[in-house]
Amino acid sequence: MLYTNHLLVSNAIALPIMAQTNTLNLTNVLLLNLGVLLPDIDEPHSVIGQRTLGLSNIIKAVFGHRGLTHTIFFPLALFFISALLTVKFDALTLSYCLAFGATLHILEDSFSKNGVYWLKPLSKFKYQIPLYTTGGVVEKTLGVGAILFIYYCYSQGKLTTVPDPFLNPAKLSQWLTAIFPH
Ligand SMILES: [Zn+2]
Repeated sequence: MLYTNHLLVSNAIALPIMAQTNTLNLTNVLLLNLGVLLPDIDEPHSVIGQRTLGLSNIIKAVFGHRGLTHTIFFPLALFFISALLTVKFDALTLSYCLAFGATLHILEDSFSKNGVYWLKPLSKFKYQIPLYTTGGVVEKTLGVGAILFIYYCYSQGKLTTVPDPFLNPAKLSQWLTAIFPH
């Protein structure tokens, strides 16, 4: 799936869930979208691969495309690593959003004709319900459907946001005074 469609479809699934669970705010949405992009770090030409200064070449050489970053272990690793890094900030929701984004990516790839080995290298079982070819008309239709669905949810008032503890004007001025004390 192309990254734009990954982003659109993932947001169409995740935003209503985040609204229902009172976690819809800018920071969480950014983390979700980062999670959606990260699995394709094993593809040097992907939007994330082009921005990681050769790291994606190494990952692709070692694990291959749709290798380790397209297994269930990748979102799990993202969850635990980010949870450890942010343990001081009481911000487990960030880790949930990051891991959720990556899980959605792998789930969406599972519906492509290539499929995904969710449990590699433990099992050669390939999870695959072939619905679309990458870049094909079905995939594009899904992307457009996702936009319409997000707009529908928004227009029905179903995307209620909650205050953002990290990215908000008050926090910003606190950080600025911390960086540039008077
Ligand atoms: Zn992928």
